[in-house]
Amino acid sequence: MADETLIPSNAALAAHPTLGREKETPMQSVVKETAPALTLAQETNPWEAQAARFDEAAHRLKLDDGIWKVLRYPAREIIVHIPVQMDDGRIEVFTGYRVQHSVARGPGKGGIRYAPDVSLDEVRALASWMTWKCAVVNIPFGGAKGGIICDPKSMSQGELERMTRRYTAALIEFIGPEKDVPAPDMNTNEQTMAWIMDTYSMHMGQTINAVVTGKPVNLGGSRGRREATGRGISIVTDQALKHLNMVPAETTVIVQGFGNVGSNSAKLLWDKGYKVIGIGEYDGALFNADGIDISELLEFKAKKGTIHGFPGAQAADKDEILVSKCDVLIPAATENVITSRNAAKLQCRILCEGANGPTTTVADKILEEKGIFVIPDILANAGGVTTSYFEWVQDRMGYFWTEDEVNQRLERIMIDSFNDVLQYSVAHGVNNRTAAYMLAIDRVAYTTKQRGMYA
Ligand code: NAD
Repeated sequence: MADETLIPSNAALAAHPTLGREKETPMQSVVKETAPALTLAQETNPWEAQAARFDEAAHRLKLDDGIWKVLRYPAREIIVHIPVQMDDGRIEVFTGYRVQHSVARGPGKGGIRYAPDVSLDEVRALASWMTWKCAVVNIPFGGAKGGIICDPKSMSQGELERMTRRYTAALIEFIGPEKDVPAPDMNTNEQTMAWIMDTYSMHMGQTINAVVTGKPVNLGGSRGRREATGRGISIVTDQALKHLNMVPAETTVIVQGFGNVGSNSAKLLWDKGYKVIGIGEYDGALFNADGIDISELLEFKAKKGTIHGFPGAQAADKDEILVSKCDVLIPAATENVITSRNAAKLQCRILCEGANGPTTTVADKILEEKGIFVIPDILANAGGVTTSYFEWVQDRMGYFWTEDEVNQRLERIMIDSFNDVLQYSVAHGVNNRTAAYMLAIDRVAYTTKQRGMYA
């Protein structure tokens, strides 16, 4: 049984072979979490943020020491170095990761991201979040995540294809419909999934479309998958409004990130009558107090490749937009954008986390003091993985649902999960984030105990 110090026994954690090996021993990491002064790492390192939330929820659940150790660390971490012939004939070598945090409840599940700042700690955190996310929405997957350190914006389609196929080949024995099922994430898309599916199928000697989700529909993708994360966000936002006695027509929204998650969230909320007044991007923002026509903005971006210069809004500052007055703020870009530097300035009533890990643990406390209703990432953006689950089910059945069927099933799961988290929060007297972690950890711990330890 865990003691009252928020940590399992240090001796046991110190025995962990690899975690934190890049910068510190696990024991030092645990000491940090209990130290009164908050460190920079807790604001900048997503793994630290994930671990701090896990520790708090595990402590409140009185999780026993052994299960605590099993669930705190990823089960498997794979690093690959991928040689790729570039268009100019040079050979470049890229570093890629795949981390499988847990397969207790089913195959690993989680996206693959391409970005220059991908790190092993980031992928670890994202893999762990996938475990908790799949458990919050109660689908039979564990958690995994992958990434390649690269600058996709400077690479040609041919270079991206060769890199993706070589990465897939390097992971061939670790992925598969019953093992670990990748999906798109930042800077990867349906085409990336098609390349992975084709490479895996070539190695296996037959077409196996259930190896990835987020594929094009004609290759076994699910209808509704592209919009699913944004749709899930719009559904839980509706639920939060009901809970707080608010109505869409009088609700203003600001969205950070106008990629897959951000643009679909904005569009679906706008369709439901919400007033989307601000859109933030990494290089600037748009603001219009009367509302931005999201259909027109999508058309503009499709033509120009940017949101900047859109005639239906004024240019705004990318940092100011996050702290501008609105009812619902949706960070849907990347991690650690709500920190000790700006959390106190937030002027929203609801924070609906579209991105994974947009809020640091330090900021969490500030938001709680301000009374902001937080819909945590592992609940808010779970619509994507839920529809990925539907895709995997359809691929394995070889029978495909209509978009309405997909959307109805998604709606039911998102509403049930929102209510589960809310009830858990009331029953245990904790905030929504801690409630979501407790619910998820409880489910994964139960399965892990039931399966027992194979030795
Ligand atoms: P994306 O690449 O399609 O879009 C990201 C957008 O955010 C881009 O427009 C980019 O320019 C912008 N952006 C990047 N850094 C920014 C910054 N610092 N400030 C403002 N804007 C910035 O990626 P996506 O698939 O929409 O994913 C966004 C987030 O949602 C990630 O955290 C991802 O892990 C998470 N997520 C995605 C899915 C999914 O189904 N795609 C599901 C769950 C969670």
